Amino acid sequence: MSKLSILGIPVNLVTLAEAVALSLKAIKERKHFRIMTANAEMIMQAQDHSELKFALQKAELVVADGAGVVWASKEFGPPLKERVPGVDLAYSLLEKAAIEKIKVFFLGASAQTVKIAASNMTKKFVGLQIVGVQDGFFQESEDEKIIEMINQSEAEILFVALGSPKQELWLEKYKEILNPSLRMGVGGTFDVMADQVKRAPRWMQENSLEWLYRAFGQPSRWKRLIALPKFVLAIKKAKKMDNHS
Ligand code: UDP
Repeated sequence: MSKLSILGIPVNLVTLAEAVALSLKAIKERKHFRIMTANAEMIMQAQDHSELKFALQKAELVVADGAGVVWASKEFGPPLKERVPGVDLAYSLLEKAAIEKIKVFFLGASAQTVKIAASNMTKKFVGLQIVGVQDGFFQESEDEKIIEMINQSEAEILFVALGSPKQELWLEKYKEILNPSLRMGVGGTFDVMADQVKRAPRWMQENSLEWLYRAFGQPSRWKRLIALPKFVLAIKKAKKMDNHS
């Protein structure tokens, strides 16, 4: 599978449909398959967070969740064909899971949010089996008990919404003892599924402005926007060095 390295982080050159197909193949073959969703902020954070960088490098699939990543791919080529938003990928996987009777576990967000998200999704996708939910506000000492619950549920898909980098580190730490074949870090997806956070209007999504909408909707995210100009500068610098070598 072709990959692109963006500031040392591998990003797979896949479309949303290809990411779904690869995921289903891994589930059928009972292989461990981790999906992480990269955006500019995460790539910048990984520059001085070696454990996050390692987790991203070891994931089986890293998709371009953010518009900044798609832009950066054009600087280095071959460019990504499209953005693969984690939320869209999660919805597509649930749709397939309902059809193919694949069991799913939701881990993360508040107890109320994760419950509403699961209930909304079982209404939306007829036949979907969400075999367990667990909120994301637990102590490290509870990890073992939670992993046992996930494994006993016989889920084949595990969505983990603990925020970044927590979810990526958690998935890396426990990759060998988790049973579900497909594991994916889904960030704020349960909040969207529970109708607690609205996605940007389609025109904003299509014009690479979803990040701006999220920042305005959740002012606590404003501070995080500083990563964007830093990312652009780092990419320009990396490209200059590329051209000189
Ligand atoms: N969250 C959690 N446990 C934590 C921290 C966060 O379950 O210790 C949840 C939070 O409630 C939210 C999600 O993780 O549902 C993170 O959402 P955010 O939009 O911040 O994702 P990010 O942009 O960090 O990937």
